[in-house]
Amino acid sequence: MEKHQCVVNYSEIKLKGKNRKFFEKKLRENIEYALRKNNVKFRLCSDFGKIKLLELKSEDIGKIKQILSDIPGISTFYFPTIIERKNCERDIFEIISNHVKEIQFKTFAVRCKRVDKKFPMTSQDFNIKLGSIISSSGYKVDLENPDLEINVIIYEREFHIFFKKEYGLYGLPIGTSGKLVSLLSGGIDSPVASKLMAIRGGKIIYVHFHNETADSCSVKNKIIELVKKINENSPPTTLYMVPFGKLQKEIIGLCPSKYRMILYRRSMFRIASEICEKIGAKGIITGDSLGQVASQTIENLMTIYESSKYPIFSPLMGLNKIEIVEKSRKFGLYEISILPYDDCCSFLISKHPETKARIDMIKDIEGKIQLEELELNTLENSEIVEIL
Ligand code: ATP
Ligand code: MG
Repeated sequence: MEKHQCVVNYSEIKLKGKNRKFFEKKLRENIEYALRKNNVKFRLCSDFGKIKLLELKSEDIGKIKQILSDIPGISTFYFPTIIERKNCERDIFEIISNHVKEIQFKTFAVRCKRVDKKFPMTSQDFNIKLGSIISSSGYKVDLENPDLEINVIIYEREFHIFFKKEYGLYGLPIGTSGKLVSLLSGGIDSPVASKLMAIRGGKIIYVHFHNETADSCSVKNKIIELVKKINENSPPTTLYMVPFGKLQKEIIGLCPSKYRMILYRRSMFRIASEICEKIGAKGIITGDSLGQVASQTIENLMTIYESSKYPIFSPLMGLNKIEIVEKSRKFGLYEISILPYDDCCSFLISKHPETKARIDMIKDIEGKIQLEELELNTLENSEIVEIL
């Protein structure tokens, strides 16, 4: 059976100084984990700033493409055809030009890279020679937008040839930036925010607040599906399902409806801060986007974020809904996000909520409710779900 290999590139990690080894190790571990989880057989080795996956089976190639394109830290990857230099150095042009004749294309570009600087031709000379041989068979050179890109990399002992580069998510390997707690609703925004922070190297732990009066089972299933999808090719994680009903009841009893959303969300941040403390996380993620809804005006965000003990990461702050939906689709989250569900945040709030809540007034209202004890109690009653 023919065995293949895959060359994995990473870009941002290469800019790291003394820590580079730590980032590379994490990326290798994450790749190994995802491939093993999907029963892919492989041998992994590091090779001059690249990761190589060797001894791959042809039937696994599709699966491998899908997995690697979803691993943060990978920039590009490709599956080269490998030709040993030993006996066919002189025939390499003929071998490649015969090989491409089996492919359907009209225009092409040759892109050669010499790793072995002792190779007797420069990359440019190689491009010109191979290009002229292929164009003599009627194909046209187009360096800007070719139908076929012929990539040739010259190593000391081998030629690597490949026609298509695959793309990863770029960014940093999961876990290299430490743990972050994500406030995950079942909507479109917060799953995208979580994924973006995972691509910045965060190891994301999820928290969902649910109202027990809603259809809890279907809400829970939806949230688990979302976390599974965000985390599909990443090491296992944890989801906290926090029962919010009792706390909301207390808030509803003493807080005018136009401020309730602010109090709900301040409580969420306090509870999330406790979780951060417990698990050693360094910050909290939300799907806020400036001005999108009443709770996301600058004044309200200031009032809400004030309750957090940890830094808040809102990577969607400057994006509009169309841009967020685009990302949601790209990450394969959209179809799950649009499934109907009850978000506890919209439970008994005003149709015309306050858009410029003042912190002193909110603290006055909070003072009337024994929130601290209730919040600790709420956290203790959380269900912890391990997501493999
Ligand atoms: P999303 O699409 O993420 O639900 P949204 O545009 O509906 O966001 P809000 O409902 O105001 O906005 O929520 C803002 C943010 O608060 C969410 O992105 C999420 O981070 C957090 N949040 C809201 N509801 C919940 C919940 N039930 N559990 C956990 N976090 C929540
Ligand atoms: Mg929402």
